[in-house]
Amino acid sequence: MATEAELEHPRKAFGWAARNASGLLSPFNFSRRETGEKDVRLKVLYSGVCHSDLHMIKNEWGETTFPIVPGHEITGIVTEVGSKVQKFKVGDNVGVGSLVGSCHSCQDCIDNLENYCPNPILTYGVEDIDGTMTYGGYSDSMVADEHFVINIPDTLPLDVAAPLLCAGITVYSPLLYFGLDKPGLNIGVVGLGGLGHMAVKFAKAFGANVTVISTSPNKKEEAIQHLGVDSFLISSDHDQMNAAIGTLDGIIDTVSAFHPLSPLIGLLKSHGKLVMLGAPVKPLELPVFPLLLGRKIVAGSHMGGLKETQEMIDFAAKHNVKPEVEVIPIDYVNTAMERLVKADVKYRFVIDIGNTLKANF
Ligand code: NAP
Ligand code: ZN
Ligand code: ZN
Repeated sequence: MATEAELEHPRKAFGWAARNASGLLSPFNFSRRETGEKDVRLKVLYSGVCHSDLHMIKNEWGETTFPIVPGHEITGIVTEVGSKVQKFKVGDNVGVGSLVGSCHSCQDCIDNLENYCPNPILTYGVEDIDGTMTYGGYSDSMVADEHFVINIPDTLPLDVAAPLLCAGITVYSPLLYFGLDKPGLNIGVVGLGGLGHMAVKFAKAFGANVTVISTSPNKKEEAIQHLGVDSFLISSDHDQMNAAIGTLDGIIDTVSAFHPLSPLIGLLKSHGKLVMLGAPVKPLELPVFPLLLGRKIVAGSHMGGLKETQEMIDFAAKHNVKPEVEVIPIDYVNTAMERLVKADVKYRFVIDIGNTLKANF
C-alpha cells in the first residue's frame, strides 16, 4: 500500500531516508510536486554528505521529523522549467543548497540574507509552504523555486561542486563578513573536515597564512603538502599550542562536538575574532576573561544568502577553489556516516546519485 509520502504529490520520487533516530538510511518512495510556474526541476546527480545530515538523521538536535531524506549539497541537470522561470533552461548544470524557500519580505530577505530569515524553508525535514514535508538530495529529483537554485559554471565538475553548496558558502560568508579575507592575515581553522578544508582553501585563495588546529595527527602531512596549510597544530599538544599563542587574526571553528574554547581564544591576537560554525549538541563553555583582556570577539555564522552563494560559486570557479571529495555509491552511505563520526574523511563524501541510486517504483 502506498504511504502518505507517496500520495502527497503527483510526481513519483525515490531516495534514501532515515526512519528513526538510529539514523540508518534505507530506500524510500515518496513524491514531489509538479513543476510550478517559477520552479526548476532537476535530475539529481550528486549529493554531498554534511555533518548536519548526520546530526539530523540521529535527531541529535531534537528537532527531526521522521522519515527524513537528508542532503543539502545537491548538484544536477535541469529537466523542466516553469513558464515564468528566467534564469535557467533545460540541460543547465545547477545546484541547490540548504534553503528552498523564505518569506521574501523580512529585512533579512530584502538584504539578500535569506539564510537569516525567521521563516526559512530548509531543503529537508521541515514543513513546506503547502503543509507537506521537504525532502533533500539523497534522492533522484528536486524541485525548487528558481530563486533558490544556483548556476554551476561548466568549469566546475558537478561532483566536486556539490560541497560548495553548504560547506563552501558556510565558510566563505564569515570570512568576508568578518573581514578575514584580506591578504597576509593569519587565519586559524579548527577541525579539518568538510567545512574546515573549504575554509583552508578559501583563506588561501584570499592570500592568508593558514594554521589548522586539529585532533588528527594523520591529517598533517597531506594538509601541508596538498592543501597548502602553512602550520598544523595538534590541539592536545600543549607545547605546540603555547608556542602559537597570540598569533592569529581570526579563527574559523568547524568542530561538530564539544571542545574547549579557551585554548582557541588564546591563539588570537588582541581584537582577534573566533567565528563558530560547528553546531555541537552540548553548549560550549565561554571563558570571559581572555576576551576582556584582548578585546576579542566570539561570533557565529549560518550558511549564506542566495546572492552570496552564487558569488562564492563564481569565485570558486574563477580561482580554482575545488573541494576534495570521496565519491561513494548510495549503498555506502551508512558506512560513510560511521566514518564521519570518527572524523575519518578527506574531506567530503559525495554520493554518486546519478549512477548508483536506482528507483524501485
Ligand atoms: P566534519 O566533516 O565531520 O568535520 C568536523 C571536524 O571536526 C572533524 O573532521 C574533526 O577534525 C573535528 N572534530 C570532530 N570531533 C571532534 C572533537 N570531539 N573534538 C575536536 N574536534 C573534533 O563536519 P562538517 O560537515 O565540516 O560540519 C562541521 C560542523 O558544522 C557540524 O556540527 C555541522 O552541523 C556544522 N555546520 C554548520 C553550518 C552553519 O551554517 N553554521 C553549516 C554546515 C555545517 P580534525 O580531525 O581535524 O580534528
Ligand atoms: Zn550542511
Ligand atoms: Zn524572510
